Amino acid sequence: LKITDKVAALRPGEPFHSLEFFPPKTTMGFDNLEARLRRMACALRPLFVNVTWGAGGSTATKSLQLAELCQRQLELTTCLHLTCTNMSQAVIDETLEAAKEIGIRNILALRGDPPRNEEYSNAPSDATANGTSGIEFEYAVDLVKYIREKHGDYFCIGVAAYPEGHVEGACPERQDVEFDIPFLVEKVKAGADFIMTQLFYDVDKYLSFEKSLRDEPSGVFRDLPIIPGMMPIQSFQMLKRITKLSGASIPPDILTRLEDVKGDDEGVKREGVNIVSEIIEKIKSTESTQLRGFHFYTLNLEKAVSFILERTNLIPAPEESVFEEIDGPITNGNN
Ligand code: FAD
Repeated sequence: LKITDKVAALRPGEPFHSLEFFPPKTTMGFDNLEARLRRMACALRPLFVNVTWGAGGSTATKSLQLAELCQRQLELTTCLHLTCTNMSQAVIDETLEAAKEIGIRNILALRGDPPRNEEYSNAPSDATANGTSGIEFEYAVDLVKYIREKHGDYFCIGVAAYPEGHVEGACPERQDVEFDIPFLVEKVKAGADFIMTQLFYDVDKYLSFEKSLRDEPSGVFRDLPIIPGMMPIQSFQMLKRITKLSGASIPPDILTRLEDVKGDDEGVKREGVNIVSEIIEKIKSTESTQLRGFHFYTLNLEKAVSFILERTNLIPAPEESVFEEIDGPITNGNN
């Protein structure tokens, strides 16, 4: 199913969430993730799951394998990420065909790393199949256009956005949201159906970004699902590293709360659950013309995201079975 159709079918006011996973390198890692995915799918009931793509096609085979596991075996609506720079057109064609065969209807169309000029010479062998000729992709918008030209409306296409601006964005001097917005408009005009954001911890910056998109004069964002990206806090060091890489700021009050417990890993995780839950609650309580959804960068980990989803009431009730409709729900005697 397409993500936009699934969102449209939700009840008014019903929030949703999605979970992102990356393909493990080893067979053992893959088996462990499979077991974890089964548990998470059953316990957390995401509206859809995302499978990441290594820039330049470095995880092409493994990403497709994980996407197939999610879509086919686990029957989860799956969104496959696909980057377009430093990769041949042939790999993009093959990937989209493979995605179709697996039953995937959702693609997150991304740029990946900035384009290199040396004809993908460092790209892995499975990313250079059939040579390097074909269309040159420079920005994500080129991929959105290409998918629409080649596959019409078959795929529901998502694109990335940056509530605090892209780290190496359109503005040469600094990270600047305003500079990047016209390019985001282009991606939507080219055919994107929804937006997923970079992680952030400054909820006010996110809300102001969302407002500028909704109020943007072209009107392309008015009715578009905008899904904020949440990353549970796993450790103080990791938080520092990831926020530096992604250019996300940590508001001083959040930093102080984490610094107070930084020697205690469990304490950081616990406080991290509190912090991310508060961010979600604040977004949920802010008026929106669209349903509220939240995307989780899980890093293939289970606990923190489960606590956050439970705390913020984001786990949907199980679908009613036919038997429940006839006999009423079966209770375990404790309630
Ligand atoms: P673009 O939309 O092409 O934008 C890149 C920058 O260029 C922006 O600052 C934009 O404003 C600017 N720009 C766009 N068009 C022009 C133009 N014509 N002229 C000048 N400037 C322009 N990376 C991976 O490798 N694999 C993944 O699976 C992955 N998943 C992601 C998921 C999410 C939700 C997000 C937010 C990012 C993800 N990324 C992933 C990272 C992403 O590939 C990088 O952030 C990349 O540097 C930019 O990708 P983009 O699609 O936003 O690019």
